[in-house]
Amino acid sequence: MRSSILVQKFGGTSVGSIERIQSVARWALDSQARGERVVLVVSAMSGDTNRLVSLATQVDPIPQSSEYDLLIASGEQVSVGLVTLAINAEARKRGLALPQGRAARGLLGHQIGILTDSVYSKARIRAIDTSVLEREIERGVIPVIAGFQGVDDEGNITTLGRGGSDTSAVAVAAALRGRYEQVDCEIYTDVDGVYTTDPRLCPKARKVARISYEEMMELASLGAKVLQIRSVELAAKYGIPLHVRSSFDPVEGTWVVAKEQLGESMENVVVSGVAADAAQVKWTLQNVPDQPSVAARIFGALSEAAIVVDVIVQDISQQGQLTVSFTVGQADAAKTRQVLEGLKTADFRDLRIVERAGLAKVSVVGVGMQNHPGVATQMFKLLAQSDINIELITTSEIKISCLIDGNRTRDAVQALHSGFGLDRLEGVV
Ligand code: ADP
Ligand code: ASP
Ligand code: MG
Repeated sequence: MRSSILVQKFGGTSVGSIERIQSVARWALDSQARGERVVLVVSAMSGDTNRLVSLATQVDPIPQSSEYDLLIASGEQVSVGLVTLAINAEARKRGLALPQGRAARGLLGHQIGILTDSVYSKARIRAIDTSVLEREIERGVIPVIAGFQGVDDEGNITTLGRGGSDTSAVAVAAALRGRYEQVDCEIYTDVDGVYTTDPRLCPKARKVARISYEEMMELASLGAKVLQIRSVELAAKYGIPLHVRSSFDPVEGTWVVAKEQLGESMENVVVSGVAADAAQVKWTLQNVPDQPSVAARIFGALSEAAIVVDVIVQDISQQGQLTVSFTVGQADAAKTRQVLEGLKTADFRDLRIVERAGLAKVSVVGVGMQNHPGVATQMFKLLAQSDINIELITTSEIKISCLIDGNRTRDAVQALHSGFGLDRLEGVV
């Protein structure tokens, strides 16, 4: 097996302007000059994917075909082109010897066989063919890979869900794992690590030196978009430590690692993080017949449409009728409405659908809460003291989530962050 590889992923803000792209180019060449063999994975320039999504929904409010992915994947093509050109220009400026006539080569998902399933806009990677990458690496050329995109069996371009470039980077690292002795993965973003909560929502958020895959998965699934959840799942599965760090400041970031590598500093902490997921929509279905298989039919129809349903609450039956409530992200609202209206026509003629948008889910996370029964009560008290109403509650072993009015997200996050002692937490940096 051959030496080591460093996969460096640069997010939207990190390639958000020509200056930032030139800084990425210098950074990659500096890493190479230190003897690292680097592979880059880049996102679209910040704001580009949002713009493309908005263009698509203006022509089709519920875009469901592969052309939607073809369109929204194009932002990454732009940044791959620009980053590669910038690296080559910088290499020429530095007078580097370029045996292949170039220092970097841009590669789209299909060019390196990032094979996915065909669940458009939420595709999952099945395999990556590393042969082109290996050839370029061995030649001393830096591969610059488009994040977020892949290709399915039919040759259609697919995308991996919002924030999916993180997953591209970890999947590339995992694929190279079998071919090189050591593969490290750095995620460069606009914050210098993972914090106890979103620093944009809470100025007292503290940077965490290390966090376990499990806790990071919970935080990511509850709205901490600093890493896409699937990237953390893959990193855990293949045992790849992730170094989340800033592309604006070269300080040490946060290491996402296995529990065993955590050290003892955070052991006695009950709540280790607070997460918020804005733009949640709550659906209440009334007059649902109280019969076996009803839930399976409703949620089966939603999952067939690839809609991720979050909190589900079923009320006690009254006169043979149930009330079922659940939440979905705003991005899936139009599709959810369509599926539910379809059910009404097909199966449940008396169904009443009540939609409430503008909600947010706030959650507290911590492996320590398994042994501390009072955490939920404390959370409800803290929200009550801030006069924040709770619409729905869900719990698991290591998290408690409450659905609240989206306008109160910032207040709720700050109240929970202080109330659970995270403003002054020992063991974080
Ligand atoms: P990129 O474009 O680099 O992928 P993202 O916008 O996807 O960046 O993710 C970085 C953002 O995640 C930060 O700017 C921050 O606002 C947000 N964030 C949410 N929760 C956290 C957290 N616990 N720690 C750090 N950042 C967080
Ligand atoms: N450009 C994509 C998005 O905005 C992927 C990513 O940034 O990770 O969701
Ligand atoms: Mg991201």
